[in-house]
Amino acid sequence: MKCRVCREPAVIDIRRHNANFCVPHFEKYCRDQVVKTIDEFEMARPDERLLVAVSGGKDSLAVWDILHDLGYAADGLYIGLGIGDYSDVSGQHARAFARQRGLHLIEIDLRESYDYDIPTASKVTKRVPCSACGLSKRHLFDSAALEHGYDVLVTGHNLDDEAAVLYGNVLRWQTDYLGRQRPTLPGRHGFPRKVKPLVRLSERETAAYCVLRGIDYLVDECPMAAGNKHLRYKEALNATEAASPGSKHAFYFNFLRNAAERFVDDNNDASTLGSCQRCGSPAESELCAFCRLVERTAGAEPVPVELVRKSSR
Ligand code: SF4
Ligand SMILES: [Zn+2]
Ligand SMILES: [Zn+2]
Repeated sequence: MKCRVCREPAVIDIRRHNANFCVPHFEKYCRDQVVKTIDEFEMARPDERLLVAVSGGKDSLAVWDILHDLGYAADGLYIGLGIGDYSDVSGQHARAFARQRGLHLIEIDLRESYDYDIPTASKVTKRVPCSACGLSKRHLFDSAALEHGYDVLVTGHNLDDEAAVLYGNVLRWQTDYLGRQRPTLPGRHGFPRKVKPLVRLSERETAAYCVLRGIDYLVDECPMAAGNKHLRYKEALNATEAASPGSKHAFYFNFLRNAAERFVDDNNDASTLGSCQRCGSPAESELCAFCRLVERTAGAEPVPVELVRKSSR
């Protein structure tokens, strides 16, 4: 197996491109894919300030590393979700990465700042953990970016993530969700633009990138993800991809090319909403969904991870 560029021994094969790469050319391939994605979807200008949502996993650390390498002013934001050991270890990886590179990491701890954690919020509100978590993260990413004056919020969603979300949305024809499933969402209500620069790279590629770059990431999955329907969608897409390399890429990018625009009007535009009386975010009632979650959950008896994990399957 030889590198497609230099003919030296290759370390990775990428079947959908029918290509093999050595270490330096694989790293260049990853960076080039990110540059192409940023340009094509007008994600960021060189003079803008970027905030990267960092979980300590491979994708968020890979995208932060690549953006830093490309010369962007990119800081990190880590949210302590209070998911037992998983959160403790993920925070250590995020901090170590930032420290080694001299990068700035903003930290928010749900328990310290809002007196709740994800397992407890899930139990108290009877939401599945990922729903309580997604709501919390979206709100805190937005408000931190606003508070600290960032232009762009970056997340590490990769091709597998986006194809799995698309698959789920298409299975149920959730056209409002399809209407906002683009790798760049423009800023609204004073909140920053949201971008996903890794959508051309697969999960396997971001993992390989981290290993080859010596990035020490948290390998374990979140314990709350067990039974998550996106994992099942990923498995279904992986089976299709194995039989027909390139299917995942075609599924997602042909959607963006041929169909995404058709659903934009189906997405409920929050511009008709009022403002939350507590935090000022767009809200359907007096309080936004996040402030309602905090109100219901803060101060509740903490619930162990294991209890929620078992009951949410
Ligand atoms: S798997 Fe669910 S609970 Fe865990 S970090 Fe992701 S969204 Fe949050
Ligand atoms: Zn090479
Ligand atoms: Zn609010």
